[in-house]
Amino acid sequence: MYNAIDKLPLGAKIEAKRIVVTGGAGYIGSHTCVELIKQGYEPIIVDNFCNSPITNIDAIEKITGVRPKVYEIDVTRNLSNIFKLSNIVAVIHFAGLKAVGESCEKPMEYLRVNVGGTINLLQHMQIANVKNIVFSSSATVYGDINNPPFTETMPLSAVNPYGTSKIMCEEIIKVACEYQGVRAAALRYFNPINAHDSGLLPEKPIGRPNNVFPIIEMSAQNRTIMSVFGNDYDTPDGTCIRDYIHVCDLALGHIKALEYLENVEDGSFEPINLGTGHGMSVLELIEGYKKAKNTDVFYEFAPRRQGDIASCYADVSKAKELLDWQTERAPI
Ligand code: NAD
Repeated sequence: MYNAIDKLPLGAKIEAKRIVVTGGAGYIGSHTCVELIKQGYEPIIVDNFCNSPITNIDAIEKITGVRPKVYEIDVTRNLSNIFKLSNIVAVIHFAGLKAVGESCEKPMEYLRVNVGGTINLLQHMQIANVKNIVFSSSATVYGDINNPPFTETMPLSAVNPYGTSKIMCEEIIKVACEYQGVRAAALRYFNPINAHDSGLLPEKPIGRPNNVFPIIEMSAQNRTIMSVFGNDYDTPDGTCIRDYIHVCDLALGHIKALEYLENVEDGSFEPINLGTGHGMSVLELIEGYKKAKNTDVFYEFAPRRQGDIASCYADVSKAKELLDWQTERAPI
């Protein structure tokens, strides 16, 4: 007897498509693993846990009922055991260092890990004949030379070594597309915030948080005063404007990117913005958080931080057109 749909013997197991997810234990990676499992993929997590707790793996299991396979290894190391697994159809590459300030103190470390990790992955992909890669790029690649809304055709410029590493990774992936037949989507994230509704996957970096949302949460929970950097920008309330996107929406964008890559030609490289397309000021974000969580947030104004631009939000028409993706949730 055969299963009418698949022409497989009844009871035969269909092997799930495996996706190597570097940095899958991290903030965006763990949310994406939840979504991958929900959609029937099997994520294979590669993470050295330098910025994420092992409890994120427990949380993925609690939410989905599936414990993903995890390889605790540095992405710059030999990954051949992982790429020996059968049925790997794509890589989603989140692993990397992401603190802008720290990247100015340790520029070579940022390049070694972010760029070196990407080269290493692409080499393993070539040996294993894995063609598709979804790369975590960033709105930071637009630098300080463009005016929002940012479109993917704008010139790129780095204002810190973290930004340099993202631009270099995009360029290197482009080379892999041209000469190795790789198919790539470089997803340029704007500002991911918030967390899965279960509350099991909050953004909890190891050490001091750098992103604004966990800083707001810390202030609310510990009743400490947070700094808002700059209230004299040329924006309606004087604070910086960013395109805050709910991390669950962002996770879905990766599923859409995987599906998109299945249908493009070898060598295709597309940078794609993932944002809401709307700007929100830091003060609006704080007020939104206070209302949503019915809590207080204590802040004071501090001088501008070097390298912060006044306003940053996406033109999201390319994501809609190529991926049939747009945000569905309010970020806060
Ligand atoms: P995160 O730090 O929570 O996740 C990164 C994960 O990679 C962590 O689990 C960390 O342990 C792991 N990792 C780091 N270096 C590694 C290495 N050498 N080998 C193996 N694992 C390693 O960060 P995130 O916010 O989830 O960001 C994921 C990706 O998205 C990063 O590449 C980041 O640059 C990019 N990005 C993030 C944001 C943001 O605001 N969160 C915005 C734009 C782009």
